[in-house]
Amino acid sequence: MKVHQLKAFDDNYIWLIGCEGRPEVAIVDPGDEEPVIDYLESNGLIPVLILITHHHGDHTGGVTDLVERYGVPVYGPANERIPALTRSLSQGDRVNIDGCDLTLQVFDTPGHTRGHICYYGHGALFSGDTLFTAGCGRLFEGTAEQMYHSLEQLRALPDETLLYCAHEYTQANLRFARVAEPENEEIAARAAEVESLRRQHRPTVPAAMAVEKATNPFLRSHQPSLIAAAESFARRPLNTPAEVLAVVRHWKDTLD
Ligand code: ZN
Ligand code: FE
Repeated sequence: MKVHQLKAFDDNYIWLIGCEGRPEVAIVDPGDEEPVIDYLESNGLIPVLILITHHHGDHTGGVTDLVERYGVPVYGPANERIPALTRSLSQGDRVNIDGCDLTLQVFDTPGHTRGHICYYGHGALFSGDTLFTAGCGRLFEGTAEQMYHSLEQLRALPDETLLYCAHEYTQANLRFARVAEPENEEIAARAAEVESLRRQHRPTVPAAMAVEKATNPFLRSHQPSLIAAAESFARRPLNTPAEVLAVVRHWKDTLD
């Protein structure tokens, strides 16, 4: 599998999934058609499929124009309204990318939106706005409990899995992670590394799941240090990891 990284708007990423030596690609979350068309044309790539994680405009805004231009099918979450949708996906479904012999599996990951889905395969996770590098999506439609279970599913993926999320938010996310876990040296080290990358305008996405497990507060609701910090922010005992996640999410919202 070969993943191409395209930038859109201020901080969105659009991912193209293909393979070495073949022109066919799937487009993940084209919020804008222009960068996609430019990239496809200048690299001689042929779009065969659009994959959508959730309904927000910065992930779907380019769909209609791309479908008009290329006539490609659009796959997306079953529980959301997606423009030009041709196939509804949910937990356990498998998606094939024609020409490339690639198969992705679908996870239901409600929380950011009610119907959000993620795509996983060949060592890569396309997590949309559910799991970000060093953070997670805001709870616009779902509950913290749902987000907790969504993130647990993703946390169970192998350490070497690369996380391809839809925004470049790592630096701001790590600023919060340092507040939540000031003693965590891996967070401090990652923050320094990310700062230097961003100073050179380089991307910090993708990142390995092992790094996320060590430094992303939203994957660490079971860690005593984070539980203690969340309890002191909430001024009450927190009895489940889902409650910890709810408080940590709220805590970050108050600082954003
Ligand atoms: Zn979103
Ligand atoms: Fe988004």
